[in-house]
Amino acid sequence: CAKGDGRDTWRRFDASMGRAIRSRRIMEHDLRHAISRDEMSLVYQPQKRLDTGETIGFEALLRWNRAESGNISPATFIPVAEDSGAIVPIGRWVMEEACREAATWPDHISVAVNVSPVQLHYASFAHDVRTILARTGLPANRLEIEITETALVRDMNRALIALRQIKALGVRVAMDDFGTGYSSLSNLRAFPFDKIKIDGSFIRSVDTNPQAATIVKAVLGIGRGLGLPVLAEGVETSEELKFLADEFCQIGQGYLLGRPSHRVDLAPLPAAHHHAIAHPVGA
Ligand code: C2E
Ligand code: MG
Ligand code: MG
Ligand code: MG
Repeated sequence: CAKGDGRDTWRRFDASMGRAIRSRRIMEHDLRHAISRDEMSLVYQPQKRLDTGETIGFEALLRWNRAESGNISPATFIPVAEDSGAIVPIGRWVMEEACREAATWPDHISVAVNVSPVQLHYASFAHDVRTILARTGLPANRLEIEITETALVRDMNRALIALRQIKALGVRVAMDDFGTGYSSLSNLRAFPFDKIKIDGSFIRSVDTNPQAATIVKAVLGIGRGLGLPVLAEGVETSEELKFLADEFCQIGQGYLLGRPSHRVDLAPLPAAHHHAIAHPVGA
């Protein structure tokens, strides 16, 4: 009886493995056609100064509206696109689309684009970025690329060369999801970052969780010491926002400050709104 159960379990396992492999193959195939089928789009989430509430930029986030299955999270399809190499043309499309959009915004507003390790290690990356800037007319200093630490651990030398080429163009580089990767501190010293983005997992409940608070304060101290502005990701509550503003975190991003949206709101803040953001009425 136990033996029979075991064989059954294996058969079921085989069948579900088979299904998983097939659905991944289909996803890889669909990803290769997603751009020509017009299924990809970008949403933009504001990044705001916490002292004045001013919007200083938007992060471009990729959305895939896949035929029949609807919206699929980038957390699901980006890794598949990375494994299959489809991320290279998709990433190029994201960069061009984001730069073209940002070129229509006021001069002081930047765009941040996520760059996958696979793209960064692709030989022509810096050249592609330069071509896209020229084609869209976006000044290089209004583009920021966001990279995670997994981009750095693959091949440190190759990553350093690519980042130096990008910086030579005048493009800024932010370390994304800081605190969740490997050997964060040595990476900060070895690579020419312009900004640190603290991962949202540390911001969640930063006002009530003493451990999260200690870590966030330490990162802010590192940023101050290195002269790098720090952006807090995933700000969801006014308590989290107040904590961050009180600790002189320079920039915030999160549902509280603005959801990712296809339509970018560029209306200037009324003067009275300044300061109110970090110290909302009643706080
Ligand atoms: P990320 O770069 O760290 O982007 C932040 C993620 O947090 C986004 O998820 C955003 O929608 C979400 N978020 C923003 N505010 C809040 C908040 O207050 N609370 C919570 N819980 N979440 C918030 P999204 O858009 O699903 O993207 C997930 C990840 O997929 C991104 O993380 C990034 O690593 C990757 N990704 C997105 N677009 C691209 C792209 O164009 N290229 C590449 N290579 N990766 C991308
Ligand atoms: Mg990002
Ligand atoms: Mg992040
Ligand atoms: Mg992330």
